[in-house]
Amino acid sequence: MTSITAPRGTRDILPGESWKWEYIINTASQTMKDFGFSEIHLPIFEHTELFSRGVGETTDIVEKEMYTFTDMGGRSITLRPEATAGVMRAAIENKLCVQGASAKLWNWGPMFRYERPQKGRYRQFYQIDAECLGIAGPYADVEVISLSIELFRRLGLKNLEVVINSVGCEKCRPVYREKLLKYFEAHKDELCETCLARMGRNPLRILDCKKESCGHVADGAPDIYDSLCDECREHFAEVRAGLERLGFTYTLNKRLVRGLDYYTKTAYEILSGDLGAQNAVAGGGRYDNLASAIGGGKIPGVGFACGVDRVMLVMEEQGCTFGKVPEISVYVAALDDNSRGVAQILTHELRMNNITAGFDTAGKSFKSQMKNASACKFACIIGPDEIANNVVAVKNLGDGSQVNVERSEVVKYIQGKIQ
Ligand code: AMP
Repeated sequence: MTSITAPRGTRDILPGESWKWEYIINTASQTMKDFGFSEIHLPIFEHTELFSRGVGETTDIVEKEMYTFTDMGGRSITLRPEATAGVMRAAIENKLCVQGASAKLWNWGPMFRYERPQKGRYRQFYQIDAECLGIAGPYADVEVISLSIELFRRLGLKNLEVVINSVGCEKCRPVYREKLLKYFEAHKDELCETCLARMGRNPLRILDCKKESCGHVADGAPDIYDSLCDECREHFAEVRAGLERLGFTYTLNKRLVRGLDYYTKTAYEILSGDLGAQNAVAGGGRYDNLASAIGGGKIPGVGFACGVDRVMLVMEEQGCTFGKVPEISVYVAALDDNSRGVAQILTHELRMNNITAGFDTAGKSFKSQMKNASACKFACIIGPDEIANNVVAVKNLGDGSQVNVERSEVVKYIQGKIQ
């Protein structure tokens, strides 16, 4: 029979990597706390409508990348392709932002998109996501952008570029859309098929087409800054001033529109030069119309999502450290079969006192137990003589020295040595 492999675009995160993963999440958790964000846990699947209405019918995600199925009850369900819509749904449903209240929320977990897999792009990938809901002013945008920059600083990532843009609002974007349409209409012959299809539905997306010929056309397109209304222009200027106040450098890119329809005003990405084609480690922005699109009235919001898989790739590439390498402090080895039970009791006692302890459950020889112990700080050796004398032989695996310690004193002895 042929063996079953993981589905295309998914991968296993094995013990050799999972402790590094834990370091990234723990660092994010602490950073979020320091910025006043609280963690929430959300369903991994939602009603399909949340994404078709929230993310936008004409986006790549909704048109061709969602894992959608009908459940046993006949409902259309989708594995979440992104987190923001779910966070907003939860805030509305649980009334977190009523009567002018705001909420700063973060979460992390798997997202699902049916994309063409390549380095840094998977069908199941992981995001750390932060959303600041209920605040319309530019200080919130700066808070979110600075949070993502600080997270990457703590993780030790280097050579990152912060790229920002404003995509306007429902007042000024239609005007810009018309100008763009007119311009692209005149350059129809130079656009790729996908962009031609985008013309009628979402011409802004042509701006971030990666094809060279479309890129040339997009470079000459009307500038969005000339079309921004006063409110959007002022908001953008204040976001930029805030970033400068905090000493951050950034690049302006009028072609940054991002793949989700819900963005208004600020859009931004953080790029790494060490990732190849999939170079964004995080992206986000403001989405003041998302709540109303999913039936929740007027709740402004701004947030970002960072790709954990990509952060991991960059950290490996740049030789970043992942905190302390996990280690077992003590290995309890039994000299013969009759001593295994006593060794198991001591192992459990050590663990009950928060000491990481290893013990052989496979019935291996003393020699191979000691081989396992070699990565530990101490070995506690128990054989017939030790049992008869009510002691444990404690071997310091660093310098090779060995002492007999009273059985009842072992935990205290080890505690004193590993602090
Ligand atoms: P988005 O939700 O598209 O704004 O993406 C936010 C971040 O998630 C990106 O900057 C990437 O770091 C990461 N990301 C998005 N799609 C994928 C994917 N298919 N595989 C791995 N990471 C992804």
